[in-house]
Amino acid sequence: MNLKEVKGIGDKSLHLLKKLGIESEESLIEYYPYRYHFIKRSDLENLVDDKIIVDGVVETIPKIFYIHKTLNKLSFSLNTGTRILTVTLFNRAYLKQNLNIGSKVTIFGKIDKNLRNVVASEVRFSSLLKETIEPIYHTTNGITVTKLAQWIDQALKNDFYVMDYIPKEYVEKYHFMNKKESIFEMHHPTSAQQLKKALMRAKYEELFLFMMKMCELKENKSNKKGLQRTIPFKEVEKVIETLPFLLTSDQRKSVEEIYTDLTSQKRMNRLLQGDVGSGKTIVAILSMYMNYLSGYQSTLMAPTEILAQQHYENANKILFSFGVRTALLTGKLKTKERREILAKIANKEVDLIIGTHALFTEDVIYNNLGLVITDEQHRFGVNQRGNLKNKGITPDVLYMSATPIPRTYALTLYGDMDISSIKASPNGRKEIITLLRKEEDVKEVLTRMLEELKKKHQIYVIAPLIEESDKMDLENVEELEQKMNRAFGKYYKVGVLHGKMKGIEKEKVMFDFQEGNIDILISTTVIEVGINVVNATMMVIFDSYRFGLSALHQLRGRVGRSELQSYCILISNYETERLDVLTKTTDGFKISEEDFRLRGSGDLFGIKQSGMHAFKLADVKADFDILKHAKMDAEAYYKSDAFQENFILKEILKKNEDLD
Ligand code: ADP
Ligand code: MG
Repeated sequence: MNLKEVKGIGDKSLHLLKKLGIESEESLIEYYPYRYHFIKRSDLENLVDDKIIVDGVVETIPKIFYIHKTLNKLSFSLNTGTRILTVTLFNRAYLKQNLNIGSKVTIFGKIDKNLRNVVASEVRFSSLLKETIEPIYHTTNGITVTKLAQWIDQALKNDFYVMDYIPKEYVEKYHFMNKKESIFEMHHPTSAQQLKKALMRAKYEELFLFMMKMCELKENKSNKKGLQRTIPFKEVEKVIETLPFLLTSDQRKSVEEIYTDLTSQKRMNRLLQGDVGSGKTIVAILSMYMNYLSGYQSTLMAPTEILAQQHYENANKILFSFGVRTALLTGKLKTKERREILAKIANKEVDLIIGTHALFTEDVIYNNLGLVITDEQHRFGVNQRGNLKNKGITPDVLYMSATPIPRTYALTLYGDMDISSIKASPNGRKEIITLLRKEEDVKEVLTRMLEELKKKHQIYVIAPLIEESDKMDLENVEELEQKMNRAFGKYYKVGVLHGKMKGIEKEKVMFDFQEGNIDILISTTVIEVGINVVNATMMVIFDSYRFGLSALHQLRGRVGRSELQSYCILISNYETERLDVLTKTTDGFKISEEDFRLRGSGDLFGIKQSGMHAFKLADVKADFDILKHAKMDAEAYYKSDAFQENFILKEILKKNEDLD
């Protein structure tokens, strides 16, 4: 239906409404308040505060006094049922015409000690209810909330039809309110209880549709025929035997789950979830080996060049002697090198291609690509996840994430995937000791650093800035380099790594650190993701209050990667809840729950929002119970005969399938 049919909306308003995403009468009607203001009446006989909200009846005709040119005063008597109050309003003379004897009004204001005089900030003409619930709408410049509410009311007056997507059986099961009724209730709440029912219905509908979509995506993906393979697992065991450690049971289970996916008909779409340092890389390497055994190419994409390099070396070390040919493909390759590698890929002269985004630029032509792995998946955002597969190929897909996602979130973000989890870290690891120190304690910190250096261990030092800034009084890499050199330079080697350095310089530094030629590596958060130097046992983070929980957790995860006791020293002159959380636990799942609590679901744990589903009404955290039911119901309904005949719902699910 056309918006212009709503009384009061003209061309200019149409344009403004479009900014709010309102382009039809339906979308106007379904433009719900983002929150509600509950107005409770004060009990005049038991006041706790001098700010009051009372209902009453106007008893006297308002008098107006002009105090001077720009100030006038209006007063009248108000009968509240228990008291007569003198109500005064400043500069509101124009209200006089509405304030007749007998008018029912609600007064917002401040009352004096004698409970006689009220200076009112607001008068509302309303019926005398115990509680008023005011809907609050998001709006935009040029549209007042009042106007928006008026238009919505006009639209509600027109005869409109809304489709209820909740299947009848669930409407009955939960005794849901009728949809049309719930829409009225959301715009004009009659009571807290009714409003709750209306919202519940709307949120359920939203989540149910989302979960149906997840079912559809999952179905589509696993329906796509996977690759037919046979993999002799004995050969995989041979590689496992050469490793310098035993796989943990979670690692083994993950490998087996992936093996099952790869050898089955269905296409793999799996998330491998495991905390920092839990050992996901080896699972990826073994997966690529399985894929190699069945004759296909694999790719492994990392979010940074340093990490890609590291994976490349790792994979080579483990698989070279088994005849696997590996290539590194990043953005910084020279044209000639790149061309050579691309030719090798196209001719199937390499089996594993490890790299950054450069793996999926236009000109890369794979030869029998059977497996695509993405490391640190949360860094890429959902859109990128789609891009990988748009090359006319349908390989199996494995995502890895060190971000332990609270269950609430995993359900929505990764609802279309199977999940493998590595929960326990490799045996023999000691818990990282985390200390919180002020800048004035830097001497103690240096002493602790020296102790580690003497044991021939290595140290990371992190600062929020690269160079000095006159805008922010924060520690920076350049200055720290001088300080550390002053303290340790005589006997130990200090290195620097940051985002402004050229790729080749960064690589050299990383290489030197890995080889133990650098003892103290000073860096920004470029070091954050994935880097693995097992001899590093201390992480010192300056101005640590500047970093988010997830970044700090990731940074800390750079140490504690062997049996050696490791330390993380958080230096901050400010105490924050985040830092407090870190000193109390190293459990990534707990930390992510805390992050969730501290930040809400808006910007969780560094997960990029691009393309992520944002709900209009539901909040995955606050409404987790509804989410659980919606998921359970959607999964059952998706398989039911009723769904097969529900063409309207099927049509809706077909729309904007943007995830694949
Ligand atoms: P992440 O899961 O953070 O990517 P990595 O795969 O980089 O972790 O592994 C961290 C470190 O643990 C590496 O040095 C790796 O060799 C080592 N590691 C992995 N699995 C085991 C294991 N089962 N036992 C001992 N060490 C292991
Ligand atoms: Mg990793």
